[in-house]
Amino acid sequence: MAENKKTTNTEKIDKQVPNNVISITSARCVAQDCKSKPSKAGFCDQHYEWFKEGLLTKEGQKPRDFDKKYHAFMKRKSAGKAA
Ligand SMILES: [Zn+2]
Repeated sequence: MAENKKTTNTEKIDKQVPNNVISITSARCVAQDCKSKPSKAGFCDQHYEWFKEGLLTKEGQKPRDFDKKYHAFMKRKSAGKAA
């Protein structure tokens, strides 16, 4: 510890941390607000289904047209028919 460098950092850099930062080794489903344990590809069973349906990205984010996709998904589900 020979160096005695004094750095004054007056400039505060406003760093925006994106909320899609996830650790791959998470013990939780990667979907936001989901606290279930992941079972497939980092998702819990339910969200894995969402992911397959395009309702979630692999990062657990909802796509811009989530609402539309979700409605279509629910419609298909409530139809109860696997086409
Ligand atoms: Zn989940």
